[in-house]
Amino acid sequence: MIPGARLILLGRQGAGKGTQCVRLSRHFVVPHISTGDMLRSAVREGTELGVMAKQVMDAGGLVGDEIMIGIVAERLNRDDARTRGYILDGFPRTVGQALELDRITAERPIDVVLDLDVPRELVLERISSRRVCRDCGTNYIATGREHVPWICDVCGGDVMQRDDDTPDAINRRLDLYEEQTSPLIEHYEKLGRLVVVDGVGTPDGVFTLLTAAVDASRKG
Ligand code: AMP
Repeated sequence: MIPGARLILLGRQGAGKGTQCVRLSRHFVVPHISTGDMLRSAVREGTELGVMAKQVMDAGGLVGDEIMIGIVAERLNRDDARTRGYILDGFPRTVGQALELDRITAERPIDVVLDLDVPRELVLERISSRRVCRDCGTNYIATGREHVPWICDVCGGDVMQRDDDTPDAINRRLDLYEEQTSPLIEHYEKLGRLVVVDGVGTPDGVFTLLTAAVDASRKG
Protein backbone atom coordinates (compact mmCIF):
# COMPACT_ATOMS: atom_id res chain seq x y z
CA MET A 1 0.00 0.00 0.00
CA ILE A 2 1.32 3.42 -0.97
CA PRO A 3 -0.05 6.21 1.28
CA GLY A 4 -1.69 9.21 -0.37
CA ALA A 5 -4.28 9.10 -3.15
CA ARG A 6 -6.86 11.27 -4.86
CA LEU A 7 -10.09 9.32 -4.92
CA ILE A 8 -13.80 9.79 -5.58
CA LEU A 9 -16.34 7.33 -4.25
CA LEU A 10 -19.63 7.42 -6.17
CA GLY A 11 -22.73 5.37 -5.43
CA ARG A 12 -26.36 5.59 -4.40
CA GLN A 13 -27.19 7.08 -1.02
CA GLY A 14 -27.16 4.21 1.47
CA ALA A 15 -24.69 2.11 -0.53
CA GLY A 16 -22.28 2.24 2.40
CA LYS A 17 -20.11 5.05 0.98
CA GLY A 18 -19.70 6.86 4.31
CA THR A 19 -18.42 3.83 6.20
CA GLN A 20 -16.10 2.76 3.38
CA CYS A 21 -14.76 6.31 2.99
CA VAL A 22 -13.81 6.46 6.67
CA ARG A 23 -11.90 3.18 6.28
CA LEU A 24 -10.28 4.21 2.99
CA SER A 25 -9.17 7.53 4.48
CA ARG A 26 -7.41 5.70 7.35
CA HIS A 27 -5.93 3.11 5.00
CA PHE A 28 -4.47 5.60 2.52
CA VAL A 29 -3.86 8.27 5.20
CA VAL A 30 -5.85 10.95 3.38
CA PRO A 31 -8.60 13.31 4.56
CA HIS A 32 -12.18 12.15 4.06
CA ILE A 33 -14.03 15.05 2.46
CA SER A 34 -17.77 14.53 2.75
CA THR A 35 -19.87 17.40 1.41
CA GLY A 36 -22.89 16.03 3.32
CA ASP A 37 -20.92 16.16 6.62
CA MET A 38 -19.72 19.69 5.81
CA LEU A 39 -23.30 20.83 5.18
CA ARG A 40 -24.61 19.08 8.31
CA SER A 41 -21.97 20.83 10.40
CA ALA A 42 -23.00 24.20 8.84
CA VAL A 43 -26.61 23.35 9.78
CA ARG A 44 -25.59 22.64 13.40
CA GLU A 45 -23.59 25.85 13.60
CA GLY A 46 -26.55 27.80 12.19
CA THR A 47 -24.44 29.61 9.56
CA GLU A 48 -26.10 31.31 6.59
CA LEU A 49 -25.13 28.32 4.44
CA GLY A 50 -26.53 25.94 7.06
CA VAL A 51 -29.93 27.66 7.24
CA MET A 52 -30.26 27.55 3.46
CA ALA A 53 -28.94 23.99 3.12
CA LYS A 54 -31.23 22.54 5.80
CA GLN A 55 -34.39 23.24 3.79
CA VAL A 56 -32.92 21.70 0.66
CA MET A 57 -31.51 18.68 2.49
CA ASP A 58 -34.69 17.90 4.45
CA ALA A 59 -36.61 17.86 1.16
CA GLY A 60 -34.04 15.50 -0.36
CA GLY A 61 -32.95 18.12 -2.94
CA LEU A 62 -29.50 19.24 -4.05
CA VAL A 63 -27.70 22.39 -2.92
CA GLY A 64 -26.70 24.59 -5.91
CA ASP A 65 -23.58 23.69 -7.91
CA GLU A 66 -21.91 27.06 -7.45
CA ILE A 67 -22.08 26.89 -3.66
CA MET A 68 -20.88 23.27 -3.56
CA ILE A 69 -18.00 23.90 -5.94
CA GLY A 70 -16.87 26.88 -3.83
CA ILE A 71 -16.86 24.78 -0.63
CA VAL A 72 -14.95 21.90 -2.22
CA ALA A 73 -12.41 24.10 -4.05
CA GLU A 74 -11.56 25.79 -0.76
CA ARG A 75 -11.20 22.43 1.04
CA LEU A 76 -9.01 20.85 -1.67
CA ASN A 77 -6.69 23.82 -1.47
CA ARG A 78 -5.76 23.14 2.16
CA ASP A 79 -2.32 21.66 2.92
CA ASP A 80 -3.43 18.13 3.86
CA ALA A 81 -5.37 17.64 0.62
CA ARG A 82 -2.69 19.28 -1.52
CA THR A 83 0.11 17.12 -0.14
CA ARG A 84 -1.50 13.77 0.72
CA GLY A 85 -4.62 13.73 -1.47
CA TYR A 86 -8.20 13.04 -0.35
CA ILE A 87 -11.25 10.91 -0.72
CA LEU A 88 -14.33 12.74 -1.95
CA ASP A 89 -17.65 11.47 -0.63
CA GLY A 90 -20.89 12.95 -2.01
CA PHE A 91 -19.11 15.19 -4.53
CA PRO A 92 -19.39 15.52 -7.48
CA ARG A 93 -23.13 14.87 -7.70
CA THR A 94 -23.91 16.55 -11.03
CA VAL A 95 -22.13 16.77 -14.38
CA GLY A 96 -21.62 20.51 -13.74
CA GLN A 97 -19.78 19.71 -10.49
CA ALA A 98 -17.69 17.01 -12.22
CA LEU A 99 -16.59 19.34 -15.03
CA GLU A 100 -15.61 22.01 -12.55
CA LEU A 101 -13.73 19.42 -10.46
CA ASP A 102 -11.81 18.33 -13.58
CA ARG A 103 -10.77 21.96 -13.99
CA ILE A 104 -9.79 22.45 -10.32
CA THR A 105 -7.75 19.21 -10.30
CA ALA A 106 -6.14 19.65 -13.75
CA GLU A 107 -2.63 19.89 -12.24
CA ARG A 108 -3.11 16.95 -9.84
CA PRO A 109 -5.78 14.74 -11.42
CA ILE A 110 -7.93 12.19 -9.59
CA ASP A 111 -6.29 8.72 -9.49
CA VAL A 112 -9.47 6.70 -9.67
CA VAL A 113 -13.26 7.09 -9.45
CA LEU A 114 -14.85 4.17 -7.63
CA ASP A 115 -18.52 3.45 -8.23
CA LEU A 116 -19.93 1.46 -5.33
CA ASP A 117 -22.71 -0.47 -7.00
CA VAL A 118 -25.71 -1.44 -4.82
CA PRO A 119 -29.23 -1.89 -6.29
CA ARG A 120 -31.93 0.63 -5.39
CA GLU A 121 -34.17 -1.88 -3.52
CA LEU A 122 -31.30 -2.86 -1.24
CA VAL A 123 -30.27 0.70 -0.41
CA LEU A 124 -33.87 1.60 0.48
CA GLU A 125 -33.82 -1.23 3.00
CA ARG A 126 -30.45 -0.17 4.38
CA ILE A 127 -31.25 3.55 4.71
CA SER A 128 -34.37 2.97 6.78
CA SER A 129 -32.28 1.27 9.49
CA ARG A 130 -29.34 3.69 9.17
CA ARG A 131 -28.36 5.75 12.22
CA VAL A 132 -25.48 8.20 12.37
CA CYS A 133 -23.43 9.92 15.07
CA ARG A 134 -24.20 13.62 14.81
CA ASP A 135 -20.72 14.54 15.99
CA CYS A 136 -18.26 12.29 14.15
CA GLY A 137 -20.48 10.86 11.39
CA THR A 138 -19.92 7.18 12.27
CA ASN A 139 -22.70 5.07 10.73
CA TYR A 140 -24.63 2.36 12.61
CA ILE A 141 -27.40 -0.08 11.73
CA ALA A 142 -30.40 -0.04 14.08
CA THR A 143 -31.69 -3.39 15.29
CA GLY A 144 -34.38 -1.96 17.60
CA ARG A 145 -32.57 -3.30 20.69
CA GLU A 146 -30.38 -0.24 21.33
CA HIS A 147 -30.30 1.72 24.60
CA VAL A 148 -31.88 5.16 24.33
CA PRO A 149 -30.23 7.65 24.22
CA TRP A 150 -27.80 5.85 21.93
CA ILE A 151 -24.21 6.98 22.49
CA CYS A 152 -21.53 6.70 19.78
CA ASP A 153 -18.81 4.10 20.55
CA VAL A 154 -16.20 6.22 18.79
CA CYS A 155 -16.69 9.71 20.24
CA GLY A 156 -19.55 9.57 22.78
CA GLY A 157 -21.83 11.77 20.61
CA ASP A 158 -25.56 11.20 20.09
CA VAL A 159 -26.47 8.53 17.53
CA MET A 160 -29.70 9.41 15.68
CA GLN A 161 -31.64 9.02 12.48
CA ARG A 162 -30.80 11.71 9.92
CA ASP A 163 -33.56 14.31 9.38
CA ASP A 164 -33.41 13.51 5.65
CA ASP A 165 -33.78 9.73 6.12
CA THR A 166 -37.60 9.84 5.79
CA PRO A 167 -39.20 7.63 3.09
CA ASP A 168 -40.21 10.64 0.91
CA ALA A 169 -36.81 12.31 1.10
CA ILE A 170 -35.02 9.00 0.50
CA ASN A 171 -37.05 8.32 -2.65
CA ARG A 172 -36.45 11.85 -3.89
CA ARG A 173 -32.68 11.51 -3.32
CA LEU A 174 -32.62 8.19 -5.17
CA ASP A 175 -34.57 9.71 -8.11
CA LEU A 176 -32.14 12.61 -8.19
CA TYR A 177 -29.26 10.15 -8.16
CA GLU A 178 -30.58 8.40 -11.28
CA GLU A 179 -31.22 11.74 -13.02
CA GLN A 180 -28.23 13.85 -12.02
CA THR A 181 -25.48 11.66 -10.59
CA SER A 182 -25.60 8.47 -12.65
CA PRO A 183 -24.54 10.37 -15.84
CA LEU A 184 -21.21 10.90 -14.04
CA ILE A 185 -20.52 7.21 -14.41
CA GLU A 186 -20.42 7.64 -18.18
CA HIS A 187 -18.36 10.83 -17.83
CA TYR A 188 -15.62 9.07 -15.85
CA GLU A 189 -15.84 5.93 -17.96
CA LYS A 190 -15.04 8.02 -21.05
CA LEU A 191 -12.07 9.52 -19.23
CA GLY A 192 -10.88 5.97 -18.43
CA ARG A 193 -10.89 6.63 -14.67
CA LEU A 194 -13.90 4.58 -13.55
CA VAL A 195 -13.83 1.28 -11.66
CA VAL A 196 -17.18 -0.28 -10.70
CA VAL A 197 -17.03 -2.20 -7.41
CA ASP A 198 -19.77 -4.58 -6.29
CA GLY A 199 -21.06 -3.10 -3.01
CA VAL A 200 -23.45 -5.89 -2.03
CA GLY A 201 -21.04 -8.02 0.05
CA THR A 202 -19.95 -7.68 3.68
CA PRO A 203 -18.29 -4.38 4.69
CA ASP A 204 -14.89 -6.14 4.97
CA GLY A 205 -15.32 -7.84 1.59
CA VAL A 206 -16.30 -4.57 -0.11
CA PHE A 207 -13.37 -2.75 1.53
CA THR A 208 -10.94 -5.36 0.16
CA LEU A 209 -12.38 -4.87 -3.36
CA LEU A 210 -12.08 -1.08 -3.05
CA THR A 211 -8.44 -1.06 -1.87
CA ALA A 212 -7.51 -3.60 -4.56
CA ALA A 213 -9.12 -1.36 -7.21
CA VAL A 214 -7.15 1.69 -5.98
CA ASP A 215 -3.85 -0.24 -5.87
CA ALA A 216 -4.44 -1.70 -9.36
CA SER A 217 -5.28 1.70 -10.83
CA ARG A 218 -2.05 3.18 -9.48
CA LYS A 219 0.09 0.33 -10.82
CA GLY A 220 -1.49 0.52 -14.28
P1 AMP B 1 -25.02 13.00 1.87
O1 AMP B 1 -24.57 12.97 3.29
O2 AMP B 1 -23.88 12.88 0.88
O3 AMP B 1 -26.14 12.02 1.58
O4 AMP B 1 -25.65 14.47 1.60
C1 AMP B 1 -26.79 14.90 2.31
C2 AMP B 1 -27.47 16.02 1.54
O5 AMP B 1 -26.57 17.14 1.41
C3 AMP B 1 -27.87 15.68 0.11
O6 AMP B 1 -29.12 15.01 0.05
C4 AMP B 1 -27.92 17.07 -0.51
O7 AMP B 1 -29.09 17.77 -0.12
C5 AMP B 1 -26.74 17.78 0.15
N1 AMP B 1 -25.48 17.58 -0.62
C6 AMP B 1 -24.38 16.89 -0.24
N2 AMP B 1 -23.43 16.91 -1.20
C7 AMP B 1 -23.95 17.64 -2.22
C8 AMP B 1 -23.47 18.01 -3.51
N3 AMP B 1 -22.26 17.62 -3.96
N4 AMP B 1 -24.30 18.75 -4.30
C9 AMP B 1 -25.50 19.14 -3.88
N5 AMP B 1 -26.03 18.82 -2.69
C10 AMP B 1 -25.26 18.08 -1.85
